[in-house]
Amino acid sequence: MPRSSSKPVLRFAPSPNGLLHLGHAYSALYTWNAARLLGGIALLRIEDIDIERSKPEFVDAILEDLRWLGLDWPEPVLRQSHRFDLYADAGNRLRQHDLLYPCFCSRSEIAAAAAGTDPEGAPLYPGTCKHLDRGQQIERLERGDPVQFRLDTAGAIDRVGMLTFTIVGPLVTDRPQIRHAHPERWGDVVLQRKGTPTSYHLSVVVDDAAQGVTHVTRGRDMEAGTDMHVLLQMLLGLPTPIYHFHKLILDDAGRKLAKSKGSESLRDLRAKGWTPEDVRRAVGLGG
Ligand code: GLU
Repeated sequence: MPRSSSKPVLRFAPSPNGLLHLGHAYSALYTWNAARLLGGIALLRIEDIDIERSKPEFVDAILEDLRWLGLDWPEPVLRQSHRFDLYADAGNRLRQHDLLYPCFCSRSEIAAAAAGTDPEGAPLYPGTCKHLDRGQQIERLERGDPVQFRLDTAGAIDRVGMLTFTIVGPLVTDRPQIRHAHPERWGDVVLQRKGTPTSYHLSVVVDDAAQGVTHVTRGRDMEAGTDMHVLLQMLLGLPTPIYHFHKLILDDAGRKLAKSKGSESLRDLRAKGWTPEDVRRAVGLGG
């Protein structure tokens, strides 16, 4: 999607596996405000690679809720589920550099042998299948064993050397600062699975580049994940945007809002008579 202007490009990239709540509203409104402050544009991307959890009715609801909030996007919505071939190509490039390896471990095997935890508290992959030789890999692949493909993160870091990226904050217009990325804390992440040639990390970097995103505004809960994105951008020869991590909207108990925890959706609030201005005020972006 080549674009002739060199304006800043931002994006909001929800996953359609539930209805939007105030946390999403904040992130979207923040992103559109930031685009305005930077003199740029904000685009919409639907992150629906999880075809089991993504539902068309949630995609429709996202579009409608964002429009209700008064937001619009100047380019077609990018749907990740239409782009699996591109993610497979990116995975193949990593494979050509010998940076992906097949892993046949089950969840319980990983939990039992975990080498600590990743920044989200999930068991860190102990590297068991990294030591399989080619013959063993081929035998298990031919046997049709369930397989995931993992990044050889240490090998990838060796290849690219020191990793830095630029962040701005507390305001999106603040002076840029350089930060070191530490993707090693994620271990050998899964980038592809049998039947799904991508993962969140892989498709997000492919698409930020495809949409020409110059500034990623995302919640602080995604700050650590950015380190993995910077590594993948370097490996794939993609540009690294400037990052800004915004606050999270918390519930009364101080927990991040989530559909799974019963957080009220924008639709619920709307049904109770809330206006878009009420939403802006509730998240601290009111006029
Ligand atoms: N799709 C992700 C989510 O809804 C956000 C994507 C991102 O900012 O990279 O949590």
